[in-house]
Amino acid sequence: MFWQKTLARTLRFSGIGLHGGRPVAVTIHPARANQGLRFERADLPGRPQIKAHYSRVTDTTRATTLGENGCTISTVEHLLAALGGLGVDNALIQVEGPELPIMDGSAAPFIRLLTETGLRSLPWPRAHVLIQRPVELKDGDRWMRVAPGESRITYTIEFPHPLIRRQRYSAPVKPGIFVREIAAARTFGFLKEVEYLKAHGLALGGSLDNAVVLDDAGVMNPGGLRFTDECVRHKILDAVGDLTLLGMPLVGRIEVGWGSHALHLKFMEHLMTQDDAWRIWVPSARERTGRPRWAPAPLWEGAPA
Ligand SMILES: [Zn+2]
Repeated sequence: MFWQKTLARTLRFSGIGLHGGRPVAVTIHPARANQGLRFERADLPGRPQIKAHYSRVTDTTRATTLGENGCTISTVEHLLAALGGLGVDNALIQVEGPELPIMDGSAAPFIRLLTETGLRSLPWPRAHVLIQRPVELKDGDRWMRVAPGESRITYTIEFPHPLIRRQRYSAPVKPGIFVREIAAARTFGFLKEVEYLKAHGLALGGSLDNAVVLDDAGVMNPGGLRFTDECVRHKILDAVGDLTLLGMPLVGRIEVGWGSHALHLKFMEHLMTQDDAWRIWVPSARERTGRPRWAPAPLWEGAPA
């Protein structure tokens, strides 16, 4: 866990974009240490790049959208969750369109592709945001907080639907646990909402193949749910994805109640202004294992300003 990671080789795949309903091709290239995660709009002249950083978020309605250099890329959170969940620090993600493919609505297909491709360690230590005192943000009934401790995310949601009601889930932030307990949880929506989106030309690629759709009585997907608490697990998946936008892993206990992409973003912005609440931590030579020789800690490019 001490060394930065990237992909072992280039990964190519494609899938349908949720909003446009058209196929989108993606190529993920390995990147050097301290490059962070970057997107590239490979379909546009000059191939503009967008850094995966919370300061580049331009929209959080129904998905997380990043923008920089006059262009945007949306629905980044499930791929970022897979990269963050597996501990990939550096990669260049070239996308032939304005949005990432929705795949099956979860991070499991990305995990499968990344695992088949393989990861490799880079000879540079990973920097972390180490939480030193509790920080909380309230937004009406919603809240998000972090306290010092081992990395863990606990999420609570409540919807007046017979299959959801109140759900709570807590998971340590570790690759094995992310893969087993979180990655396969799909995004979910309510039938009324889906009908409204389609009537307004949105979610054109949306179907029962890439989302859990709930009607008044239950779940419309023929295969049912993957977990009885799939909805709250998916909220953890979204949080893992959004938190990669800090630019480095967070070491602390996160709790979220009634959260959303908008709340995750507001919380990251708030946390970074509380600069006595955290510090950048690079494990010392003694705390590290593995072969690469110790190198002086770099001024990390993705470090919050
Ligand atoms: Zn999601």
